Amino acid sequence: MSHPEIPQHLVIFGRPGCGKSSLAERLGSEFGYTLIRTGEMLREAIRRQDFLGKRVEIHLAKGELVPDPLIFELLELNLKSPGTAHLLFDGFPRTMGQVPLLEQFEKRLDFRIDCYLEIEVSRAEAVARMTGRRVCPKCGTTYHLIARPPKVAETCDLDGTPLERRKDDKKEVVEFRQQVYDDNALPILQYYEARYPGLCRKVNGEQPFEAVYSETRRALGVTDGADQGTAKR
Ligand code: AMP
Repeated sequence: MSHPEIPQHLVIFGRPGCGKSSLAERLGSEFGYTLIRTGEMLREAIRRQDFLGKRVEIHLAKGELVPDPLIFELLELNLKSPGTAHLLFDGFPRTMGQVPLLEQFEKRLDFRIDCYLEIEVSRAEAVARMTGRRVCPKCGTTYHLIARPPKVAETCDLDGTPLERRKDDKKEVVEFRQQVYDDNALPILQYYEARYPGLCRKVNGEQPFEAVYSETRRALGVTDGADQGTAKR
């Protein structure tokens, strides 16, 4: 990593539709983070229709969280000791029950999360954004009709695949997913704020994407601000 001062391993939190997947992709390509995206791993398992994919399909279609033991199984299959890689978790932990799972992986695979980043967006704004979201069914890249349109309408910039609307971005599912976030995320954020106050950061996600990205870089300590450094735990 060319910026040793920024977090080595981080978790991004934010309600569905806050734009965290686009931020994660950009951080991954700028700083070389390996993205650990449980939502994408689950959709991949569903596309493959493997044993796990068949069991989780119904939960995703309804906008429900997948039970913690299946998330554990998914990460057991996909999470390797990072070695020199830098991990960025997007979508995990999602319940208080998953917090000790992350701690278990940190110990076992010998890495430490050194930043918990929350992207703050109101529920109303998130709902509005989700209705414009499109995703590439082949590579998983996320677009937005207004905030992050593809170069060619409804087509993936990277591989030319026609874009799709996610099943769980349907109107009736969107409000339910927001409620699931409200019920589950707050205790997790409070836990990390109490336990590791020096490692928690917040970014205002209600700005144009470039402004959110700049604020995120500053929050991670990329610019020179004397008080922007990342604490170590
Ligand atoms: P995402 O792409 O992160 O918005 O996740 C899409 C869907 O995958 C969620 O609505 C859940 O059904 C499921 N999911 C993703 N990550 C998790 C997780 N850590 N725990 C439980 N369910 C998850």
